[in-house]
Amino acid sequence: MAELSHNCILCGKCLDVCPLLRATGREELGPRAKSDLCRVLLESPDRLSEEDAARLAGLCLGCGRCREVCSQSVDVPSLVAALRGAHPDFKSWLWKTWLTRARRLWSPSSKAAGLIPDRFRTERLGPMLKTLAGMSGGPGLDPFLTPVAFPDTFRGGKLLLFAGCTANYVQGRWLTAALRLLDGLGADILPGDFQCCGSGLKGAGFADESRAMAEANVRVWRQAGRPRLAVFCASCLAGLRAYDCFDSEAEARQWAESLLPLSKAVRGVEFETAGNAPERMGYHHPCHAGKNDPDRAFLAAVLGDRLVRATDTQCCGFGGVMRLAAPGLTEPVNRKCWDALAGAEVVLSGCSACLAQLSATAPQGVRVGHWLETVG
Ligand code: SF4
Ligand code: SF4
Repeated sequence: MAELSHNCILCGKCLDVCPLLRATGREELGPRAKSDLCRVLLESPDRLSEEDAARLAGLCLGCGRCREVCSQSVDVPSLVAALRGAHPDFKSWLWKTWLTRARRLWSPSSKAAGLIPDRFRTERLGPMLKTLAGMSGGPGLDPFLTPVAFPDTFRGGKLLLFAGCTANYVQGRWLTAALRLLDGLGADILPGDFQCCGSGLKGAGFADESRAMAEANVRVWRQAGRPRLAVFCASCLAGLRAYDCFDSEAEARQWAESLLPLSKAVRGVEFETAGNAPERMGYHHPCHAGKNDPDRAFLAAVLGDRLVRATDTQCCGFGGVMRLAAPGLTEPVNRKCWDALAGAEVVLSGCSACLAQLSATAPQGVRVGHWLETVG
């Protein structure tokens, strides 16, 4: 792993895209410095105290934007994840417990967190409680798009649906809307008992646990006959794309081809827009959606002139375990994101983590929701 950062030629391209560096102006938090430090620490773990190494490991949003532009394949999120794995602390334990053992508590704790008055939120835990409250997303959006005609592209085809943990445990309305759309497309939806995609654990340094989830999910897909796999969370989709636990290269290719963003599957659907549709909407582009973001293309097509704002390079500031490790540093990142969305009455996105963060931090009067909430 450490050898990956040896390839760095100090070109500085990654400095332009790192949301943490851009929001704080601190180059020591940027990818170039981080890759160098990670390499030193992974090669010589005694160079920093356990506490300092764990603190450093917490200072990355894991957005992957630096990796996307690096011509030398320096993979900072993976280096940071390796460092987190080598220096686990209470925050990463808490994150792991939350992701693996507490999912049935997500919905009640999200609602309870929303009831805690600001004055009782400590400086350190306050931002995390806010994001937790944002998971349930409040009352949600009023649907304003009605599908009126479906293409035959998927009619009779077998499909699995990977809903993701947030839809399974908190946002049942996303799952209902997704199933309704797939039903309209005439797809034969197969039952599939998937686990978490594992990307949250992988980024936090729990490689073995994350791999076990990947293997279990690939088994479900194999047992179903390797059909198309529809997904409506950008982070889950990125996590599923990164799986590397296949029997052969041919199977890995088949897996990659089977992954189907739901917004791509519904591109041919005709929608009618109701009179309650907001006039000014914004779209938050999740970092993990990459360059060709199908959700954005779908919304641009169906919303037309009503889509007045979109983030492009701005991260929401969620940052997984970083939200616990350094909440003060994620806030300027989040503010820049809202600056880019200024003027939108409703903000849509397609990533469960971004939506939790944006719901928690939305300016007064601005509503936030998954694009699936717009479909009635
Ligand atoms: S883009 Fe890659 S090679 Fe260039 S400075 Fe960043 S890590 Fe190094
Ligand atoms: S993963 Fe994101 S936050 Fe972390 S160093 Fe790279 S660009 Fe910066």
